Amino acid sequence: MGMTIALAGNPNSGKTTLFNALTGARQHVGNYPGVTVEKKEGRCVSGTHEFHVVDLPGTYSLSAYSLEEVVARDFIVNEKPAMIVNIVDASNLERNLYLTLQFMEMGANVCIALNMMDVAKKRGITIDTDKLASLMGLPVVPMVARTGKGRDQLLKTVAAHAGSRPAPVKISYGRDMDEVLDEMETRIRSDLFLTDRYLPRWVALKYLENDARIMAAGKSHLPATHDWLVSEAQKLTHHLDATLDTHAEGMIADQRYGFIASILKQGVISHTWDQNRLAWSDRIDKIVTHRFLGPVIMVSVLMALYQFTFTYSEVPVEWFENFFGWLGGRAELLFPDGLLKSLVISGIIDGVGGVLGFVPLILFMFLGISFLEDSGYLARMAFMLDRVFRIFGLHGASVMAFIVSGGIAGGCAVPGVMATRTLKSPRERLATLLTVPFMNCGAKLPVYALLVAAFFTEHRAQVMLVITMISWSGALLVAKLLRSTVIQGPATPFVMELPPYRLPTFKGLVIHTWERTWQYIRKAGTVILGISIILWALMTFPQLDTSHPADAPRAGASAENVGHAPAEPMDPGAAALRHSIAGRMGMALESVTRYAGFDWQTNIALVGGFAAKEVVVSTLGTAYSLGDVAPEDSMSLAQRLRTADGWGPVTAFSLILFTIFYSPCFVAVVCIVKESGSWKWGVFSMVFNTLLALSLSIVFYQTASWIMS
Ligand code: GDP
Ligand code: MG
Repeated sequence: MGMTIALAGNPNSGKTTLFNALTGARQHVGNYPGVTVEKKEGRCVSGTHEFHVVDLPGTYSLSAYSLEEVVARDFIVNEKPAMIVNIVDASNLERNLYLTLQFMEMGANVCIALNMMDVAKKRGITIDTDKLASLMGLPVVPMVARTGKGRDQLLKTVAAHAGSRPAPVKISYGRDMDEVLDEMETRIRSDLFLTDRYLPRWVALKYLENDARIMAAGKSHLPATHDWLVSEAQKLTHHLDATLDTHAEGMIADQRYGFIASILKQGVISHTWDQNRLAWSDRIDKIVTHRFLGPVIMVSVLMALYQFTFTYSEVPVEWFENFFGWLGGRAELLFPDGLLKSLVISGIIDGVGGVLGFVPLILFMFLGISFLEDSGYLARMAFMLDRVFRIFGLHGASVMAFIVSGGIAGGCAVPGVMATRTLKSPRERLATLLTVPFMNCGAKLPVYALLVAAFFTEHRAQVMLVITMISWSGALLVAKLLRSTVIQGPATPFVMELPPYRLPTFKGLVIHTWERTWQYIRKAGTVILGISIILWALMTFPQLDTSHPADAPRAGASAENVGHAPAEPMDPGAAALRHSIAGRMGMALESVTRYAGFDWQTNIALVGGFAAKEVVVSTLGTAYSLGDVAPEDSMSLAQRLRTADGWGPVTAFSLILFTIFYSPCFVAVVCIVKESGSWKWGVFSMVFNTLLALSLSIVFYQTASWIMS
């Protein structure tokens, strides 16, 4: 058997990948003696050399805190491999070299396999490997283990250096500690204390680090020397504590990192673009995430986003509306009167058209959001909101779920609920996934857009901002309520990373915007079309028997039974709608909802909205177009609502409130059940949210009506 070489490195640095690249199929798996840590061994032949390769467990350090660390350390001490191939992740150089340094302090024969060079390059990190090699005093071979790049060079290096015994590196641990270390080293050397296996200075260091295994070995070897070392270490600890307010272990780690930093700063590592950008990012962050300025900027950015969206989408939205109006007119001429005509015009064109009409608005909204996301600003929003979130028993990581669900506008609760998987604490996760449906998903947007366009024309962006703030406050308060009642428990600490700012690329923006817009369009063409037709059927059947004119007054009379007194004589379309299944349902609900200002047509739309929120708009479209006396006056839905009975800003806002809070759509409920692991939470979110929405709308409607009167 040839020389033994050990592969060592941090977890995930690519040890196993390199091991496979070196040994191929000539490997076998066993255990290290006495422990359940897996030991992989193999053979590697290169030219005339043959090596016995061992894959050591991945470790960050060589203290004796974990079994892996002990196994790796003991292997090096007992088996004395001819060379340690230390796999170092080039994209994370500083942290990885911490382990390298400890091998060097042990006096081991180390070479660095500088792996993940491709990743480092992608991150804009350039490494001067020659300089690193000369400053560290060991061979460095750049490689990409995954593709096998650098493998041959590594084998050559190992063949050239295996078996040599370099002088151990001597790091300065500061004046106080160095003095004690020297004294300890001298005594250890003269007493031959554990020196058959370890270097004297290394043993001394271990006593300062309070290494339980070495100390136990020392105690049974030479108790007197052991006691003296312990008392020296304690004296130093007291001294450090008194003078520097630190302890030996912390000091040792600091100095090791300082050693590495000083090497890296000497031109070993350079960031081609990252560094400058990071500095820029830091400066921008000082302002953007400032305690007081930050929130002001955030609100202004949102305001600008809404302004941008509504202003620029106005004209194209009109084109779309005109187009569907024209299409309806064509159908009007083409089809003979009857059910088919009603299906095409009221079911399909008005229903789907109502949803598709908002495509330009959705497109502009997504464009704005993609810009915020790609630039890195969205992460800053999450960072700032993190502070707020803790107060409400949520987690910084909840923010992303809220934003995905439409925290700014135009997301979807389904991926939002799934995004909560990143939350480690189950309670915070549950609280998050139950409250993300309050956000303004892409399906609620058309509802707001319609109502805002019809009743708040002058203040569109402001109203959108108010809607956003209401949904956030609602979500946070409900989260707080849940976290202090049904899902109590402590919070989890959290660190959030901020990527550097970037100028979004045009291509990136186009792709992100289009992906999201296309999803919306596709949904309108499939799910919404289907639901639209079903709802049309519910709104059309059973039909009034028009051959018996006596039916019409009866429909009016039944309406009076549920408390709705028609002010004018009933037109035939409205009478037919009342007679339908959906109409009856809507009217039955009206006995409650009229306190919130919703008429029975709105109720039909809201029930439809449970299937998918977009349907609220399309159903209102269908309901109000079915009720039309004269179909030739092709008004837009917004115009129709403005002129309709009982509609005004108060009703509109009450409906907005209800839409924010009521039951998540069917798909979202299914998702909540799956992610929470219990159907109970699905039922809870349907019932609780709807009751909450209804109460809020009623309180608002009653108060506002009272103030206005
Ligand atoms: P170990 O924990 O040190 O054994 O690491 P692995 O060998 O399991 O590798 C961790 C991950 O990094 C795997 O997904 C590898 O495919 C990947 N990997 C290993 N070497 C490289 C490399 O040079 N470049 C890139 N991009 N990925 C690598
Ligand atoms: Mg591995």
